[in-house]
Amino acid sequence: MSASRFYITTPIYYVNATPHLGTFYTTVVADALARFHRATGDDTFFLTGLDEHGQKIERIAAERGLALQTYCDGVAAQFQETWKRAEISNDDFVRTTSERHKKAVAEMWGRMEKAGDIYQAEYDGMYCVGCEDWKSEDDVIVVNGEKVCPIHQRPVERVKEKNYFFRLSKYADYLLELYEQPGGFLRPESRKNEVASFVRGGLRDLSISRMKKSVSWCIPVPGDPEHTVYVWIDALTNYLTVLGGPNAVAAGGAAAARWAACTHLIAKDILRFHAVYWPAMLKSAGLPPPKGVFCHGYLTVKGQKISKSMPATRVDPMTIAADLDAATGTDVGVELMRYFVLREYSLGGDGDFTYEALLQRYESDLGNDLGNLLNRTVNMAQQFLGGRVDASAGEGGGDGLATLADEAAQVRAHWETFTPSQALEQIWHSVRNANRYIDAKKPWVVAKQEAQTNPGGRSAAINEILAHCCAWLRAIASMVAPAMPEVAKKILRQLGRPQDEANVWPSEFKEFWPGGTMSKAEPMFPRLDAERKAALIAKWLPPEAAAPAAPAKPAADANTVATTDIQKPAQQDVQPRSKTDVKTDAAAPSAAPGQIDLADFEKIDLRTARVLTCERVPKTEKLLKLTLDLGTEQRTVVSGIAGAYAPEALVGRTVVYLANLKPAKLRGVVSQGMILAAGDAEVLALAALDRDVPPGTKIR
Ligand SMILES: [Zn+2]
Repeated sequence: MSASRFYITTPIYYVNATPHLGTFYTTVVADALARFHRATGDDTFFLTGLDEHGQKIERIAAERGLALQTYCDGVAAQFQETWKRAEISNDDFVRTTSERHKKAVAEMWGRMEKAGDIYQAEYDGMYCVGCEDWKSEDDVIVVNGEKVCPIHQRPVERVKEKNYFFRLSKYADYLLELYEQPGGFLRPESRKNEVASFVRGGLRDLSISRMKKSVSWCIPVPGDPEHTVYVWIDALTNYLTVLGGPNAVAAGGAAAARWAACTHLIAKDILRFHAVYWPAMLKSAGLPPPKGVFCHGYLTVKGQKISKSMPATRVDPMTIAADLDAATGTDVGVELMRYFVLREYSLGGDGDFTYEALLQRYESDLGNDLGNLLNRTVNMAQQFLGGRVDASAGEGGGDGLATLADEAAQVRAHWETFTPSQALEQIWHSVRNANRYIDAKKPWVVAKQEAQTNPGGRSAAINEILAHCCAWLRAIASMVAPAMPEVAKKILRQLGRPQDEANVWPSEFKEFWPGGTMSKAEPMFPRLDAERKAALIAKWLPPEAAAPAAPAKPAADANTVATTDIQKPAQQDVQPRSKTDVKTDAAAPSAAPGQIDLADFEKIDLRTARVLTCERVPKTEKLLKLTLDLGTEQRTVVSGIAGAYAPEALVGRTVVYLANLKPAKLRGVVSQGMILAAGDAEVLALAALDRDVPPGTKIR
């Protein structure tokens, strides 16, 4: 069989954050797919890395008093250490501050320029540093006369300077054709319409540079050191950097072949960059598109989007893994986390993370199903056959169960089509099949019978039953290895098989069961009692008391911050700003500047409202459109909270609603009023009431 090629990339992660559940998820999925393809003999390449440039990084490093490169190096070390512990098998690690990458970006720019697609013009527009993205009039909301990014709830920056532009508009037809190509450039299929309608809505040329004096921590524009390259042009090029750069790929040969096999695994917030800008840039540079873009959903934590400024969503997979190791006295914590994210979530859709579900999977899938199968098999082999299970030629009569070859073929199809959850589900089908087989064959009954007819002899019948179990376990180990490489090796070790069989797909096995001498049965997934489970969950959940310390501030407050405030990095944690306010309260007999009297406050019509429906506003990343029940009437409101809440999580909730705000039109939807939320740079939490009241109740 001639090997095909498989090249998978994760996004390069922005160094404003260290690894968290979201990046762990994407990286583990890519890793499992790469491990699967290596096992089947494909020429496989797996890339991850870091995006280190941009204004946001400049500001964070400055705030921490660190040299830029020092800051980036520190974050890079953390990522590499985490990926090592998470058993990520990447073949390369790209950093955008590396020399090879700077060279690749210069090549990319040169090729696009040569195509006549780069021109200079006056840019007069808006930029949100939080998003590292340009904003059009449609993208911003106006609050107190100021234009504000609805995602970050802070004023956008006006940029008026001479910039370089990329003729993106020229590539609309090319892109629409690309999306329709057989084989599917965009997966899942549902993403295609979203992106195609964005392109059909009209593409504007893209500003692809900044003046160095305003953004210096970026790669200089070739031949014009007064300008720097826009971070996304820089970042996207990374996928070519590791192949030797755009020129090497254009030259054909191995680099081009690998590129043609490349799939970008991304989350939906960066779909536009990968599905619109990137293929257009490549086309301009005379390069083919990658094989495709696979877009996975968001993981939420208890219904809320993962955000480093939301303590309850700050799930550190490596800490959880270490705690699980300590609680179980094993080292399977990391592999449980890997298994869980691969099994629990269907890759294209959104998923919600809960600790309860994690422990449930540990107990049922790993302990009761897989661990039990292994334990029974090895124990019986010790008890009835002195630990040695001799070779067996095949499955024989079938016993009414699917054959191993059929099951493996189905699992393979799932790994190949980017459905790891179904692959694992199918493997567990095999696990349960094998357990049922033991239940049906009852080797212990056979042993009793043979003890009478053939005392002290070695039972061929029992050997046959256990050889069957061993063969299935061996194949299961190999099929599960992309998700849990160490568990796979441990299974093989207990079966007396070489551990490197974990790296071979079962279809390559020459014999049904080649024989093996079992080692001692060791429970791989010890049971956690209720107390231990409760203790783990208590440790992982942030203390409840910390949450409602201060009354939630209206989101409008965030919009009135002084302009100097935008210098703060967007991901900064919330400061308990109200503390100092409280102190001064008692000692303030007369109105200080900025204070209002009760009559001013009475102008604000705050009420409770129940969320009836909630959906994303099409073609936006962060806006939700909600229908609210005010008791006496219904209202439609557009709110920039999709960054913190999944639409499904809001339906049925009671929110605090500013009813008499002047209506505003956002993305063609008339938004009436505003939902109150806490947060400054980004929405952290919705204001809520501590008990149920009817919708429309006045708040004062
Ligand atoms: Zn923004």
